This record gives sequence, C-alpha cells and structure tokens, in this order.
Amino acid sequence: MRTNGIRWTSVSAVLALVGVAVGAVAVGVSVSASQSTIAPDIGDARVSLGTQSARVIEQVSYRDGVERIADVVIKNGSPVGEIDDPDVAAAWKIVDSVWPASLRAELKQVSVIDEGPRGLVGVVHRSSTGGWILSVDRVDLPDRRLVQETIIHEIAHVVTLGPDVFSFDTEAGCNGVTITVGCAFSGSLMARYAERFWPGGAVDAPPSALADVYAASAPHEDLAETFTAWVAGWPVVSADVASRIEMLSADPEIAPLAAEIRDGMG
Ligand SMILES: [Zn+2]
Repeated sequence: MRTNGIRWTSVSAVLALVGVAVGAVAVGVSVSASQSTIAPDIGDARVSLGTQSARVIEQVSYRDGVERIADVVIKNGSPVGEIDDPDVAAAWKIVDSVWPASLRAELKQVSVIDEGPRGLVGVVHRSSTGGWILSVDRVDLPDRRLVQETIIHEIAHVVTLGPDVFSFDTEAGCNGVTITVGCAFSGSLMARYAERFWPGGAVDAPPSALADVYAASAPHEDLAETFTAWVAGWPVVSADVASRIEMLSADPEIAPLAAEIRDGMG
C-alpha cells in the first residue's frame, strides 16, 4: 500500500476521466468526545476527478448534510501550490504536525468539510489515484488536540485498510476476516485483531473497557481508537486496552509508526 499510484498531471488525462465515477468508501469517522451520540460512518462515497485552479482535485461526494468547503492536493508530502483558503491552511498546519514522514506518500489530498454539529471530526477515503484523501471538519479546527488525535485515528485506517491488506468489496468472497466495512486479508493486522478481540464478530469486552465508546462500534474503529489511545498517551483504562496495545506494539509496521508520530508531535 506504499505505492504512490498514478497522479493525473495533465489536463487531458483529467478531462478523459471527467464523468467517470470511481467508487470510494469512507472508512474513518472519529467523533468528538463531547458528543453523546455517535456519528455513523460517513457512508459510501463516490469520487470523481475534476480540475480546480489547474490542479487536480478529487471531489468526494459525502453523505447528505456534509458540505465540501475546499481542498488542497498533496504531492510528495507537501501541498501543491499556495493554500489560499484559510480553513485549508489551518487544517494543513495540523496535518503537518502529525502525519509522519514515512507515510507522506500515502496522503494525496486534504479537504475541509462542514458537517454541522453532529460530531464528525475527520474521515479518510481511498483516493482513486492511490493513497488517501483526508477530510477534516472545519468546525473542529480550533481544537488542535482533537484534530491531531483524529488524524492519528485516520492514520490507523490508512495503514490497516489499504488495498494490499483490505478490500471494501466482499462480493467475490473474503479470504480473511469479514468486518463491518469489508474483508481484512488473511494474516493482516486487521484480520488478526478482529479474530482475537471480535471473535464471531462481537467485541470481547464491554464498551466501558475499551479505549472509548466509539471503539465498540466496529473492529476497525476499535483498532483505530486503541492506536490513538496508545500514541496520544490516553490512560490505559483496562486489561482489554492493554492487551490491544500490546498487539499493536508488537506489529513491525505499526510500532515504528507510533514512535514516529509521537516524536513528530514533540
Ligand atoms: Zn474511524
């Protein structure tokens, strides 16, 4: 999943694809801890390619009620061109403080959305060009720590739900473990995590024993919230969380990534 994929750098290449909708699936939603209701996944999205200011912007169709505000394309780990939208500039500043160098090639676009008061903070979509699109709710931008922790959560999705280890399409069957959003390939961290902590599809602990209540919503959210708890240094509230962190910390890809994020955040 570390490939850069194909960047559409010429207008003709883009125009050839205008109108072609590529299926994309949202896999990450993090909710504000202050919200009493849990926002569901943002839902199936469709991505189409278009142009904006001579740059290629992928336009994600979010679920109803989510308004797209502005975007910036990321190339080689940095924004392409000047960021003129103040919300995107604020979002990028926070992303830049968290997103690790070793994973920069995976980040293809940062989008700012307005989701209203329902509790969504961030979401990731697979980009149709390979890599990922990170969307952040502008309402939450003043809360730097919340957005940072949300980005850590989304990073967990990026590394455990990439195309080399996960498929959102289970129509052709699943050679690993089927979870809420798709098929975790056999032997992958997501598959092993789900098998161990969500045996038979049900979580093995009460919600109060997990990293937070959102972790109880699905195996991939459990993994992402546990990763966030570990990296951000939340109190380890139970033996269930401790054993989950132990599994993540033993993973040869996840462990160095966690250290890199922590170091980068200072
Ligand atoms: Zn998530």
